Amino acid sequence: MIGLYIHIPFCKHICKYCDFPKKIPKDSTQIEKYLEKIKLDILKYQNLYDKIDTIYIGGGTPNSLSNCQLEDLLKFIYELKINYKEFTIEINPEILTATQALLFKKYGVNRISIGAETFSDYGLKHLGRHHTKNDIINAVNLLKKNELYNINIDLIFGYYGQTLEDFKEDLNYYTMLNVSHLSCYSLIVEENTLLNIAYKNIKLDEDLIADMYDYLLSFMREKNYVHYEISNFARNGFESLHNLKYWDKDEYIGIGMGATSYIEHKRITNSLYINKYLRDEDLYVENLTELDEKKEMIIMGLRKMTGISKIKYLTTFKSRIEDDFSYQKLIQLGLLEEDNNFIKLTEKGYLLSNIVFEEFI
Ligand code: SF4
Repeated sequence: MIGLYIHIPFCKHICKYCDFPKKIPKDSTQIEKYLEKIKLDILKYQNLYDKIDTIYIGGGTPNSLSNCQLEDLLKFIYELKINYKEFTIEINPEILTATQALLFKKYGVNRISIGAETFSDYGLKHLGRHHTKNDIINAVNLLKKNELYNINIDLIFGYYGQTLEDFKEDLNYYTMLNVSHLSCYSLIVEENTLLNIAYKNIKLDEDLIADMYDYLLSFMREKNYVHYEISNFARNGFESLHNLKYWDKDEYIGIGMGATSYIEHKRITNSLYINKYLRDEDLYVENLTELDEKKEMIIMGLRKMTGISKIKYLTTFKSRIEDDFSYQKLIQLGLLEEDNNFIKLTEKGYLLSNIVFEEFI
């Protein structure tokens, strides 16, 4: 089955750490032109609609669209009559309105992902977010009031000035919200971001970040969440089906500025510039070789706690993973383990996953 990803790049402001494809729209005409273009692009995949089982509208900030624009997009998707299991939309909490929540419910959105990042006033300011702790709490309450219960919260940890106690407090607030999913990533200071300039003379404390991650694992275990991917936790049965497609190396269609499709051993990425995207210019096409596909299956698969199925590898590539890659050293170092035809990271390996992945590149 295939995933459909739709990118809405528009944001009301730019967060200091952000390196996603995003932009502050010039005017509403630009947004409308963009929405027309993504609709045309979605229609090009009509022959694949019966294979789509997940839809994900990400951003940018999808709920920065006006009610009219949002309804137009959701209605368009609804009328495609795709028989999906999961339909996610990302939102920023400070601009969520009762009308938006009603529209989500009306047009079949069944999973909401909230860009919370932290509950701390200092942290939100430091990261350049414009919401407050109360905005997050109010957003969750509003969604639940509209019977939207499958909710993810995104958190970031390890930013400068955050203590272990602060992070523990974030996790306590998260628990109070009683939602089904947590995506929790340590801060990566990307090159073309405002934070990169601010962090020029700052060295993050790697030991503290490791302690935070250890705490996260034990905390979420104690709260009975399934740790199913390095940075993702869910109540049983609420794992993100769409994101699992990336880790399982299933196919997906990517619509919109900077979005990537992966179909029939080809990866196609749309332009990061809106005008070029509107004119179908600047497409980046990669024809993946069998070796590329093998490496990707390993690197993406190892992100999942279940690891890589040796049988799936054999069926896909007609060769054994142990003949193609030598990973015994990683087992001896205690970073990988083999278990019933699966190869997976150990708990020590989660933190050092980049070292493990490099061995397969
Ligand atoms: S983090 Fe999200 S809201 Fe902030 S600028 Fe990036 S895409 Fe926009």
